[in-house]
Amino acid sequence: EPGRRRRLLDAHGVAEEFYREQLLTPQAAVARTFLAERGFDRQAAEDFGVGFAPQGWDGLLRHLRGRGFTEAELTASGLVSQGQRGVYDRFRGRLVWPIREVTGETVGFGARRLLEEDSGPKYLNTPETPLYRKSHVLYGIDLAKREISRAKQVVVVEGYTDVMAMHLSGIRTAVATCGTAFGADHARIVRRLVGDAGGAGGVQLAAGTSVGGEIVFTFDGDAAGQKAALRAFGEDQSFSAQTFVAVEPSGMDPCELRQARGADAVQALVASRQPLFAFVIRSTLDAHDLRTAEGRVAALRAAAPVVAGIRDTALRPEYERLLAGWLGMDDQAAVRRAVAGA
Ligand code: ATP
Ligand code: MN
Ligand code: MN
Ligand code: MN
Repeated sequence: EPGRRRRLLDAHGVAEEFYREQLLTPQAAVARTFLAERGFDRQAAEDFGVGFAPQGWDGLLRHLRGRGFTEAELTASGLVSQGQRGVYDRFRGRLVWPIREVTGETVGFGARRLLEEDSGPKYLNTPETPLYRKSHVLYGIDLAKREISRAKQVVVVEGYTDVMAMHLSGIRTAVATCGTAFGADHARIVRRLVGDAGGAGGVQLAAGTSVGGEIVFTFDGDAAGQKAALRAFGEDQSFSAQTFVAVEPSGMDPCELRQARGADAVQALVASRQPLFAFVIRSTLDAHDLRTAEGRVAALRAAAPVVAGIRDTALRPEYERLLAGWLGMDDQAAVRRAVAGA
């Protein structure tokens, strides 16, 4: 029902304002310190709508009740949780980022733990609700949409702080998934923004279909980030030809990189993007010792299925040539045979 959706959106609007006001209280010193240590000033916090969910069990709950929201509306919103002895605030003692639709409407929150002694996960998000589906939401999409449309590029990072760091470094096409991999639903949203005619009306991505622009995955340089990039490869080959990966060799994420080396380094990282296929194949080769004949043959065997999986028939022979080069093999026919047999 549209009326109910409106009520849930209103509750989120009230919550967002509540969290923002809380960020200015003495209790929120820990949150302000966290932001300052990450290189985010007061203006940045405001621009991204960052707030603070206070300690205690019912700060937001009482505020929302005071504004006339019913118990049923509050639990449906995901802003409060249902326990054995009643309802309580879902986010407590955390820094919160509003997660918005393309339209700018807030549909959920991402929240980071601030105190080491706190139990619970480092990041906690809104659960699945009528407003919030984690496979659809992209943090920062409301701020990035204009530039994504103009530049026909989207930069996908891992975290909320990474989106902030990217934008503050001049990469205004940056968004983040919220605790999930980038999937077909996310791709559809991007497709609509880059104005690809085929993207209208939630049509399933067909094999070989263009997203009409460039997707750049800039995941953390750590092991988890590398795995996420490789996982993106398996997700949807239909946009793989326009998909790039940027890896920071030091292992820093974009937020850390901005702090350590500044905006130029963040821009250089995005500029260093390589095609997803190249990234995946070279990651496969990295696991082998290419100085030995045995190592090269094992590497070829491991990489051949990846090349064989490239659907674009013009692109596949290009990668056969590249693979031969990376392996240091003069015999391109051997590579072609391995790919054909994979
Ligand atoms: P930090 O605030 O420590 O710099 P980060 O943003 O670098 O955090 P990572 O540990 O690199 O966080 O994780 C990347 C992203 O993955 C997070 O921003 C968050 O969206 C998501 N994430 C991490 N841990 C969790 C978790 N326990 N539950 C849900 N999502 C998580
Ligand atoms: Mn990480
Ligand atoms: Mn980080
Ligand atoms: Mn990180």
